[in-house]
Amino acid sequence: MTADDILAMLRRQTEEEISSVVIHCVSRAMLDAFRGKKRIMGMVSKGGAITSAFMLLNNCENPFIERFEEVLSICRKHDIVLSLGNTARSGCIHDLRDKMQIEEIRQNIALAHQAHENGVQVIIEGCGGHIRSDRIPKYVKQYKKQSPYPLFVAGPLPTDIAAGYDHIAGCAGGSMASAAGADYLCYITPAEHLGLPDPEAVRQGLIAFKIAAHIGDAAKYGKDARDKKIAVMRAALDRKGQNRYALYPARAQAFSDDGEECTMCGEFCAIKILRTFL
Ligand code: SF4
Repeated sequence: MTADDILAMLRRQTEEEISSVVIHCVSRAMLDAFRGKKRIMGMVSKGGAITSAFMLLNNCENPFIERFEEVLSICRKHDIVLSLGNTARSGCIHDLRDKMQIEEIRQNIALAHQAHENGVQVIIEGCGGHIRSDRIPKYVKQYKKQSPYPLFVAGPLPTDIAAGYDHIAGCAGGSMASAAGADYLCYITPAEHLGLPDPEAVRQGLIAFKIAAHIGDAAKYGKDARDKKIAVMRAALDRKGQNRYALYPARAQAFSDDGEECTMCGEFCAIKILRTFL
């Protein structure tokens, strides 16, 4: 594989009418900074690892950086949104933010400036991977202070122990990141770390991250009118009305029983008791 092959593939894919493409702009300096580091998980980005291996094997700079103007002209021609990848993201919550991550964000912001000046829209991938929950809002806010460009987060996963349920762990991390200012969530499926997801796993992952996006939007933009509507219906014990405002009405309906109150508390329904006595 040569740098020409890489650029030719980028050109071919953009001609196939994709709308966005990820490139990893890891630099030689970043790889040097990475070498001596004691990360448990090393590098966990597939695109970043392939790009890094190409650079190390050929003892060269990153062709996406060296030929960035060419990349931009390809993207501009087809109105492609350029996503600047997160090679340096951490692969477990014990691998803390290091020089490589900080340098990647700084460099991606500089490349994003250049892209914007050349009429190409950009999303920057950062603050993704595995990050302990108390650090997620901090990292997102730091990015937002530094950068005017939309932030894409993969997950993040606030714990490493949820294998088989990583869509739930990712929903928790994605909600925190989104509420703190992240603009674009990359969903995670229950098969994460384990295998290729089947269609049902994909569906479960998307549901989890639609919920995360809604939680984040309520915090960022006050997009909570639907929450209010469902609460009003719930307070009125309007079971069918409540289900209508659920994110997945058919799912809510499938769990619903027929009584005025539900069978969770039955005759001890708090709403009914207080309606009677207040
Ligand atoms: S029975 Fe319990 S869970 Fe069901 S509506 Fe009443 S208070 Fe809510």
